[in-house]
Amino acid sequence: MTEHRIKIVEKILNANDRLANANRQRLDQSSTYSINLMASPGAGKTSFILATIHALLDENIQIGVIEGDTAPVTIDSDKINAAGMPAVQVNTGGECHLDAVMVENALDQLALDDLDLLVVENVGNLICPAAFKLGTHSNILIASVPEGDDKPYKYPNIYRGLDVLIINKVDLLPYIDFDMNYFRQGVEILNPGLTTFAVSCKTGEGIEGWLDWLKAKLT
Ligand code: MG
Ligand code: ZN
Repeated sequence: MTEHRIKIVEKILNANDRLANANRQRLDQSSTYSINLMASPGAGKTSFILATIHALLDENIQIGVIEGDTAPVTIDSDKINAAGMPAVQVNTGGECHLDAVMVENALDQLALDDLDLLVVENVGNLICPAAFKLGTHSNILIASVPEGDDKPYKYPNIYRGLDVLIINKVDLLPYIDFDMNYFRQGVEILNPGLTTFAVSCKTGEGIEGWLDWLKAKLT
């Protein structure tokens, strides 16, 4: 990158940070805990949100979702609505990440005062979502077993900024060469002591630990 281009990128990121701070203020004012949920495509982000919604149905917790996609589809937001929770679909117009402006616009369409939890499902991508703050309270990544055990080594930046790591699709471990020790060693180097839950959204295995973490944040 030329020096000129670096300056432009810095400017964009600074403007994004200011907007992210404003988003955080709105969320704090309405006492809405918020999550930036990141993952590669197909890791199970929407399934994980749905599993969380279903598990908390009896708890009287209102969960809103912002669904980021690069195409004008409503596949994921339709699923959230069908589960009885409000969802706003954001079409990034081809952009491979959400930014603070997109989240700001989506916040306008949600009754924040009614929400206990807001999950922002970022665009499926392990690279630039890590660079754009959204104003959310925590960064969570879903890594799924079929993606392979080398991802922390190949995409270190996204792992460095995480508050929680979800290892999904552990029901597939018997069928896939996924070295859990190698994977966890890679994570430990980048983000020592990172809170990690190994789960299967399909079987429900491990979901309980995640729910306990989440519920502690919502009280
Ligand atoms: Mg999805
Ligand atoms: Zn991007």
